[in-house]
Amino acid sequence: MTVCSSCSVEIQGEEKVCKSCVQDKITATWKRQMRTYGIVAAFGTVVLLYDIAQVRALPHGTAGIPAYLMAATAVGGLAVMGGLFGLALAAFFNAWHKKKAA
Ligand SMILES: [Zn+2]
Repeated sequence: MTVCSSCSVEIQGEEKVCKSCVQDKITATWKRQMRTYGIVAAFGTVVLLYDIAQVRALPHGTAGIPAYLMAATAVGGLAVMGGLFGLALAAFFNAWHKKKAA
């Protein structure tokens, strides 16, 4: 007979940690991922909004958008897309693991 090293519940077989603790760990991991990606997406949104404001504030007749603004917009866009993509992926796997455990 073994006892779970996290919650001291008796468990069967060779496992060192019980299923509910493994599940908790998985859920915590995906939650952390979602938070990280959420922050990345929020950061990207702020950068994009800032860039839009900057471009709008450009004086009329200015030829083109300054390179740094183009670069910042690209970075912001990538952060939003990457962040939302990662967020969706983490949410999906979180739900998938929950479904599998149920
Ligand atoms: Zn446990």
